[in-house]
Amino acid sequence: MALSDILQKIRDEEARVGREAGSTRLIAVSKVQPLDRIVSVLDEGHRLFGENKVQEAAGKWPDLRARYESIELHLIGPLQTNKARQAMELFDAIETVDRPKLAKTIARLAEELGHCPKLFVQVNTGEEEQKAGVMPGDADAFIADCRDLGLTIAGLMCIPPVDEEPSLHFALLAKIAARNGLDELSMGMSGDFEKAVAQGATYVRVGSAIFGERVYD
Ligand SMILES: *Cc1c(COP(=O)(O)O)cnc(C)c1O
Repeated sequence: MALSDILQKIRDEEARVGREAGSTRLIAVSKVQPLDRIVSVLDEGHRLFGENKVQEAAGKWPDLRARYESIELHLIGPLQTNKARQAMELFDAIETVDRPKLAKTIARLAEELGHCPKLFVQVNTGEEEQKAGVMPGDADAFIADCRDLGLTIAGLMCIPPVDEEPSLHFALLAKIAARNGLDELSMGMSGDFEKAVAQGATYVRVGSAIFGERVYD
């Protein structure tokens, strides 16, 4: 599917549920994709991208930023504290803040670097053992702890379990955000972004539907 088709589907869904046009932004998830596919999406005028690994992003985005203006890059994969500095220098947003040690490290580095990316707390809405994110029951306290550290939390992010109705998870994320006074919701992927728009997503993260299947070699 082309980028323009995805954008149109987002606009259609916003209209259908009575949301303002453009209130959902599309993150093109470019992890593992060949450079020529990324460049063609940039050439179509798209500027908002997501990557899930610091190292992989470091290998391509500094060069692309030099060639294209106003790129906005989100980290959507787990972040180790020893890569936090590099991530804060590379990304405009970190969507995967999910534990006190990482929050403390980001707070310390923000002071040292004099800037901080936009931050999202990842919530493990499905309470899956293998998945990152704070448990829904711990989210309010963790957000409060982040604020005590001086961090500004912009919103929440989730990745629902593959075998469950995503709308329930999106609704839960929206509820946790609302009671914590958070505006941004990063939720929805290739298979369910329209449902996420219906539940109030301000960012959807779409990879394979834009770029084609990821080929791992
Ligand atoms: C890969 C990835 C996506 C995009 O997945 P698609 O199914 O290709 O759209 C979205 N969010 C996260 C966190 C990812 O790692």
